[in-house]
Amino acid sequence: MNRRAAPRAGSSKPLHAVVSAGPTREYVDPVRYLSNESSGRMGFAIAAALARRGVEVTLIAGPVVLATPAGVQRIDVVSAREMHAAVRKAFGKADALIMAAAVADWRPARKLAGKWRKKDGGNTNARLDLTRNPDILASVARSKGERLVMGFALETGDGERRAQSKLRRKNLDCIVLNDESALNATRSSVTILGRDGSRRELARRSKEDIAEVLAEWVIDKVRATSAHRAG
Ligand code: C5P
Repeated sequence: MNRRAAPRAGSSKPLHAVVSAGPTREYVDPVRYLSNESSGRMGFAIAAALARRGVEVTLIAGPVVLATPAGVQRIDVVSAREMHAAVRKAFGKADALIMAAAVADWRPARKLAGKWRKKDGGNTNARLDLTRNPDILASVARSKGERLVMGFALETGDGERRAQSKLRRKNLDCIVLNDESALNATRSSVTILGRDGSRRELARRSKEDIAEVLAEWVIDKVRATSAHRAG
């Protein structure tokens, strides 16, 4: 494997990518939270594949039980709002963002200071008010300029049409479509859809194999963009 730094065309600076991974956790009270099944494996594998190619990687990780890949700078976060702040800050100095995290769409409207007791609800039903979390990807991609942004879409049914519409609506360069079989699994089937109309399917491959392909895709695109700028 080539371990030399991957410079931008026309520049000696190594390429810098921000990768987000894992779930976020949205606390209801000091001991309970809303979250999802994401293991973080896909994002960690992408961070590792990029770092092996000499890319400077900032990995923004939700709560997961995975070792930090060699050569990667890791920032741990818990909630979507913490992830948003960390992504925004790191992306300010980066060339690419790969948003593989499964961000919780909602958080409890209020976090209770003490434990939510049974008596705080009714006899058989209780209500939990939720507030919408920011869409980190859409908000950061809005002002991305020429920097590359890759999103993920976990869809059921006719996922491709929805993924294509997300690609445009969120101003992405690429979206990686997968289905719920990818959640907390070692293998996945994905379709990589580029804004340039490209389409590539990878069926039942390990997340490490998929990560290699995605890392190459990101590096090629960033180089092509900077070569175009320099030329
Ligand atoms: O709209 P949907 O949740 O399907 O979009 C998935 C993509 O958007 C993923 O790349 C995910 O990391 C990102 N996302 C986000 N902030 C949210 C929800 C999703 O950045 N609140």
